[in-house]
Order: sequence, then structure tokens, then C-alpha cells
Amino acid sequence: MMKTVDLGFSALIDGKWEKGTQELISSNPGRYDEIVAVFSEANADQVRRAWTSARSVQKSWAKTPAPVRAEVILNFGKLVEKNKEALSQTVCREIGKPIKEARGSVQEVIDTCNFFVSEGRRLYGQTIPSEMPDKECFTYRRPLGVFGFITACNFPAAVPAWYFVPALVAGNTCVWKPSEEAPLTSYYLTELLLHAGVPKGVFNVVFGGASTGSELIKGVEEGAFDKIGFTGSTQIGKKIGEVCGRNLIVPCLELGGKNPLVICDDSDLELAVEGALFSGLATAGQRCTSLGNLIVSKKILDAFMQKFIPAIKSIKIGNPQNESNFYGPLISEKYLNSHMRNIETLLASHHELPLGKGGRIGFESNWNNFFGDEKKGFYASPTVVLGVKENDEIYATETFGPLFNVMTFEDFDEAIHLANAHGYGLSSAIYSRDPQKIYKFKSEISAGMTSINNSTTGAEAHLPFGGNGKSGNGGRQSGIWVIDQFTKWHAVNWDLSGKLQKAQMDTGYIKADLSYGF
Ligand code: NAD
Repeated sequence: MMKTVDLGFSALIDGKWEKGTQELISSNPGRYDEIVAVFSEANADQVRRAWTSARSVQKSWAKTPAPVRAEVILNFGKLVEKNKEALSQTVCREIGKPIKEARGSVQEVIDTCNFFVSEGRRLYGQTIPSEMPDKECFTYRRPLGVFGFITACNFPAAVPAWYFVPALVAGNTCVWKPSEEAPLTSYYLTELLLHAGVPKGVFNVVFGGASTGSELIKGVEEGAFDKIGFTGSTQIGKKIGEVCGRNLIVPCLELGGKNPLVICDDSDLELAVEGALFSGLATAGQRCTSLGNLIVSKKILDAFMQKFIPAIKSIKIGNPQNESNFYGPLISEKYLNSHMRNIETLLASHHELPLGKGGRIGFESNWNNFFGDEKKGFYASPTVVLGVKENDEIYATETFGPLFNVMTFEDFDEAIHLANAHGYGLSSAIYSRDPQKIYKFKSEISAGMTSINNSTTGAEAHLPFGGNGKSGNGGRQSGIWVIDQFTKWHAVNWDLSGKLQKAQMDTGYIKADLSYGF
């Protein structure tokens, strides 16, 4: 068994780690008697001091030249690369993410750094002609100020980096409330940032759960923040959005999904099986982009299921550190309980369950290819729910676990309707060989991201990531688009004429005779 990291820290404020009194324990969900780390929860006073610290140095950080700010990110990326395996193992131990996926998620941090380092030399404004003589106009990107962000349990390294890497390059200072499920991953990331040279107070962290998160959001009412980022469930995101709206802050809300994957009768079935499997069960279905509704052409449903069900049955489940296991435990007991509640409350009598009801492995259910400690881990077998209809609760409920629906369609408009009608709009996918269908799907789908002949999950650091409708407020992370999240445009005009020139009045527009014609 690995050693416990017992630091007891609750916050990083003004460059110093502080301890708290309320313990925050992170244990390995694959064997819960292994305590990974002991931290503590930040209290209201610490949260307040964290935002005060971020405010006190924001002007000096904004004055630091952007290419120099980006150098911190360059160093941070190098340090993450150097510590990639240790960080990946920590993600794997804290939240049970399969080690290969954990490495991928840490690579995403490195890719994000690589992308944004050069953005530090590209925070371009424009020089724009004026409508009057002897006058110049310019635009500048200005930092917003203090950025508070709260992140989810399932991507404890990549998702925070999507926020703080561009936010810091753009000249903002930060207060981060990481997920309570992964304090050690969050601590290591923060330490790497400190070693990369981030000045005191520029980056502050408050550990804890919902109560620490709501203390941070109270700061919005007090004018402590200029921008809020929230990645998590739709339900909490809506509440945070309300507070931000009242205070005229545009938050970046990255929320839940019920992602559709449409399989047309002309698709390559082998490929579709592989894509559906990864979409549904990677990270035990606990990705925001995990498959929610598999929407299969009625014509090929039987042929598809004849390949798909054996493919699911063949996967290995168990210890996430073992590379051959397809998925590991649920993130913690809380997520196992919520998965069990979904099985108990969302299944209806008209649903068919080709793999049985599923549930906790070693308790309600068993799995032939299981390689782990089922009595000590929060493992669940897959649940496939067939015969789901549009008005079933399960059709429009994010289940965040190894459970997904199968629906059928007769004509393609029906498939698109089912893909959109629940109101989520994060990720989507289609398997087809017909360019007309693919074109129609990508034009009419309401999701922020679409895969063609590929799984619903997966992101690249230079593409916009985000959702619409119940999946978010249209904000995007990753790529150049995120710079607009972390800067505000400033228009400047400079009149050198030596007199007051009034726009629209003293411009001397060209006189033309527009009645002229041949
Ligand atoms: P969650 O909403 O339970 O918690 C998210 C974060 O908010 C945590 O840090 C939590 O401590 C904090 N929090 C909880 N209650 C709060 C409150 N009242 N005020 C302020 N903060 C509060 O979500 P989770 O279980 O950590 O993550 C799973 C959810 O996140 C799923 O819905 C998933 O789809 C979504 N998610 C979305 C994206 C995306 O980019 N769209 C990425 C990852 C996860």
C-alpha cells in the first residue's frame, strides 16, 4: 500500500500554505482503506483572505509583460512533463481514472501549456482607421482582474489547467476551489505552478467541498471577482449563474451532458461498436462527454446489438492501475451511491436490460472479467437500458456512471430530434458513410462538439470545448477562443488634430449622387 500524504493544508494564500481544522480525506476508490491524502477544508475567513490576496497583486501581475507571464506557463508545462507519471498515478489513485486515461489527461495539461505559451506573445490588439483625419484608433485586450473558479471531480488536472493557464497568461490572478475528491492532485499542480515561478498571491487555492465553494461564490456578491469559472453539474451551475447574473459577471459555465451517439444503417458497425464502447464506458461513464443516448437505426438494431453486447461483456473491469482494465471504480462512494440510486429510480418496466440491472460488483452484481478488490472498491458493472422513450425520465437525466440508454429511429429527422430534444448540448457523435446525413447532422445538432465516425468523448487543446443549453452558457475553453473569456476589449482613440472632432458630425462624408444610372 502506498504512503499517505498527510499535510493537513486547507489553503494557499499569498504564497503560503495554511492548515485548517476540518479534515478533508482523499481515499483510493479502488481500495478505500488506502488513504491517499489528508488535507483540510478552508473556512470562510481563508476564502476571503484568498480573494483579498489575489486582488492585492492583480495590478502588478497585469503590468508584468504578457510574454513574461507566459514564461511561468512554459516552466509549469516543463515541470508537469517531468512529473507526468507521478501526477498521472496520483489522478489514478485519487479518483480511480484508468492509468492510460489519467496519463492522457495530464498530457492535456502539457498540451494546454504548449498552446498558451505563445499566446503570451500574441495578445494582439488592432490599429483601426478613424472616420476623421489626424486621429488614430486602437483596441487592446485588458485582463479582467480576479478570477475565481470551481472545478469538478472527474478531470482534476486537465479542466483546472484549461482555466488557469489562459487566465494567468492574460494577466488575471486566481482563486481556485478544486474538487474535494482530488486534493492531492490539486496540491501537486499548485506546487508545480509555484516552482514554475508564479509570484506570491497571483495563484491562491482553497480546499473543501460545497460549503467552501459557496463561500467563494459569496465573494461575487461582494465584488471580489471579475470572472467566475464553474465546471460541474447543471443544477449547481444554474445557481452560480444566477448570482453572477445579478452582479453583471459573465461566468464560464461548463456543465453536464446527455450526449447522443447516432448510428445510421450505412455505418461501419465494427467501428461504431468500438466508438460506442469507449463513449459509454471510458472513465466508467463519468465524463461530461460520456454517452447518454445511443440512437440506433431500427434497421440495424439487432445486428448492432449482436456485436455490441459481446464487446461490452469482453471488457475487463478492475484496478485502474492495471493498463488492461477498461475501467476502474467510480470516483468515490458518493458517485457509486448516486449510480445505485439511478438504477433504482430511473428504470421503468418497459425497459429491457440486456446485461441485467447491473450495480456494485461483488454485491448486487458480478463481472466475469473483474480484476481488482471488489469488496474494498466502488466498482459497478455496466447497465445498458434498451427501449428508452423520449418521455422517460432517464432519457433526459445525466447519469454519470456506467449506464446509458439505447433508443431507435426510423427516419433520420427523428434521430436528430432525439439527439437534441432533452436540451443538453455538450457533445454528440454520428456513425455514417453518407455525406448528406453527416452534413445534416452537423448542421442541425445543438451540441457544442460533434464527432463524425468517432466517440462522443475526447478533446484537443487547440479546439473549442464547451456546451449549449443545459450544458453551459455558451462559453468555450481551450484554443484561441478562450482568450475572449479572460480579457476585455478596450477601444482607444487618439486625436492629434488639435481641435475637437466630433464623430458622426464632423466627418465630412463623401457626397455622392446615388440617383445616377444608365
Ligand atoms: P458538482 O456540481 O457536484 O461539483 C462541482 C464542484 O462544485 C465541486 O468542486 C464541488 O465541491 C463544488 N460545489 C458543490 N456544491 C457547490 C455549491 N453549492 N456552491 C459552489 N460550489 C459547489 O459536480 P461533480 O460531481 O464534481 O462533477 C460531475 C459533473 O460535472 C457532471 O455533471 C459532469 O458532466 C460535469 N462536468 C462538466 C464538464 C464540462 O466541461 N462541461 C467537465 C467535467 C465535469
